[in-house]
Amino acid sequence: MNFEEERKRLVYALKSEGIIKSRKVEEAFLAIPREHFVPEHMKLYAYADSPLPIGFGQTISAPHMVAIMTEELDVQPGDIVLEVGTGSGYQAAILAYITSKGGGHVYTIEKIGSLTKIAINNIAKAAPQLLDFITFATGDGSKGLEIFAPFDKIIVTAAAPTIPEPLLRQLKPGGRLVIPVGSRWEQILQIVDKTSSGGIRIRDSVPCVFVPLVGEYGWSNYVYDY
Ligand code: SAM
Repeated sequence: MNFEEERKRLVYALKSEGIIKSRKVEEAFLAIPREHFVPEHMKLYAYADSPLPIGFGQTISAPHMVAIMTEELDVQPGDIVLEVGTGSGYQAAILAYITSKGGGHVYTIEKIGSLTKIAINNIAKAAPQLLDFITFATGDGSKGLEIFAPFDKIIVTAAAPTIPEPLLRQLKPGGRLVIPVGSRWEQILQIVDKTSSGGIRIRDSVPCVFVPLVGEYGWSNYVYDY
């Protein structure tokens, strides 16, 4: 399989559909080989526009959702970004590709330690030059990552019942948080802006379906609480 051709085809499709809008997101999608972020037996589907299992009951998000979230985050070169939900590391690599151009940095936190290790290995294979621009942490990201706060941008790639208060606190004035909020089964992607005076403005983006954010400010580990 010619992964480079597949990647170009996917980017072309996402651009034609108006999902990839900016040059910087297009360049990041073309630069980061998604085949390194899926398990060996899934590589054939690396460029299908759908989520794929990555083990531990978790998924790598569909490319269109990564594109929508990256565009909505409005990530800029030089930004200091927090990602909650490292998973495969693909979204972190896309973000680091953009922020590193201006000397920015991505902090990414994952609750499953084995996934943190897999993500580091994936990025080491796919884009080793980005490792200097990404800090990995294992823990409950629903509490944010206080020691590295504040952040210009925060992206949560798991579904929260409500917007976690620590994330609002750890966002810089003028900063933006992108987060799926709703039930365990379906959510709306919310775009949360903190104004320069510290006020909060929330806009609904697209409907979406994410695995749950499990933690102190997310869902409890019990299944079936609505
Ligand atoms: N961004 C990932 C990627 O590019 O592959 C996809 C993330 S996957 C949809 C959601 C991830 O959030 C899972 O790996 C899950 O373990 C993680 N997660 C859930 N609750 C979390 C929490 N409280 N803190 C950190 N990570 C969490």
